[in-house]
Amino acid sequence: MSKYKRVLLKLSGEALAGDKGFGIDPKIVNKITKQIEKVVKQGVEVAIVVGGGNIWRGKTGEELGMERPTADSMGMLATVMNSLALQDSLEHAGVDTRVLTSVEMKAMAEPYIRRRAIRHLEKGRVAIFAAGIGNPFFSTDTTAALRAKEIDAEVILMGKNGVDGVYSADPKLDKTATKFDNLKHMDVISKSLAVMDSTAITFCMDNNLPLIVFSIDEEDNIVKVINGQPMGTKITK
Ligand code: UDP
Repeated sequence: MSKYKRVLLKLSGEALAGDKGFGIDPKIVNKITKQIEKVVKQGVEVAIVVGGGNIWRGKTGEELGMERPTADSMGMLATVMNSLALQDSLEHAGVDTRVLTSVEMKAMAEPYIRRRAIRHLEKGRVAIFAAGIGNPFFSTDTTAALRAKEIDAEVILMGKNGVDGVYSADPKLDKTATKFDNLKHMDVISKSLAVMDSTAITFCMDNNLPLIVFSIDEEDNIVKVINGQPMGTKITK
């Protein structure tokens, strides 16, 4: 039995990239799909925000001399590509989906309209929110936080690659780093823990949005976390 009725799953763009760390690996996308299919069949309403870092990040463009807003527009387009890849994989598995974009591109996806997104979820469709919040200088973590609040999701599930929760320091660099089972939003801010950017975590704190940071590297972890199996790090008020 699932613990939640409605969740928002945040995946980084890298989650779709597989070993190469770049682009989209359909085999990896299908692995994620299989898990989402299971929870949708259980009756869980699933919304997804996927990043774009496997294709492009605005900051990289800026470092290369581009204007940040232009580079960020490219980043937002990257999230659309990832969203369409997820949609394709889910639909092949027989899961109904809708991609809703914050920047209108009606030939490819619906515009994001909150009440419409909620209706899709109520009908058992997976809602995939693409193009971030539609503005430069923001991240898909902020998008996840904002959309989760708008659709009244019970929790944001932050699926991570290569790490299974929040640590006191980077466990790859510091052998003494310890994992937290529970944290408060304020701890993440005051200790500068690498969970999400500060705009996003502040939004979660101000709006009382719980988060679970967990690893998607192990099989079926998305299913397990939705079914309430303790894992990763839980962040609450
Ligand atoms: N982006 C943006 N506004 C948003 C969301 C994303 O400008 O509301 C751009 C930004 O350039 C960012 C890129 O899209 O670098 C990809 O998103 P993100 O870095 O959050 O992806 P992730 O790290 O999760 O793969």
